[in-house]
Amino acid sequence: MSDANVFAHECPLCNQYFPSRSKLLTHEKNKHCNNKIIPHHTSLILPSIELIVYYQDAFIVLIKKRLGFNRHSIGSKRLSIDAFPETIFVHLFENEPTFRYSPTQRKYYCQFQGKVGKERLKQILNYEYWNFRQDPKTKTMGYVLFVDYKGAYKVNFSWYLDIFLYFIYTN
Ligand SMILES: [Zn+2]
Repeated sequence: MSDANVFAHECPLCNQYFPSRSKLLTHEKNKHCNNKIIPHHTSLILPSIELIVYYQDAFIVLIKKRLGFNRHSIGSKRLSIDAFPETIFVHLFENEPTFRYSPTQRKYYCQFQGKVGKERLKQILNYEYWNFRQDPKTKTMGYVLFVDYKGAYKVNFSWYLDIFLYFIYTN
């Protein structure tokens, strides 16, 4: 067996070869943990405006559904949308400073934090009131918290294998 066969796992970012997927993953974590390059970028079709709006709206509806009004609903939450298109995720987030891509895991990641993060997400989702909901009877508000007296909180987005995951950290 030649070396080329033994070292069959190629890093698409620097073209080094590794003997196993786990070695390649370790390499990726060590050398490319802030990677933004998407080697297959040209194969991603630019989504139509209609499709972007459809998924922005779907996402906002999902968040609002999950926002509760009582103190028992406080805490970090995880939301997911099945079959969320990869191209939409890339289109919405690829220019953000925290955008990351792992080619080995085929996984994207993006994070928003504090007041700046909240304002940026208003622009990305194209909706001013995406992060809160009011009970029409009691006027109680449920919201995605970004800043309070304890500090700033984060919202993480990640995408892998057709699943779009969303995390809210409120404390
Ligand atoms: Zn590499």
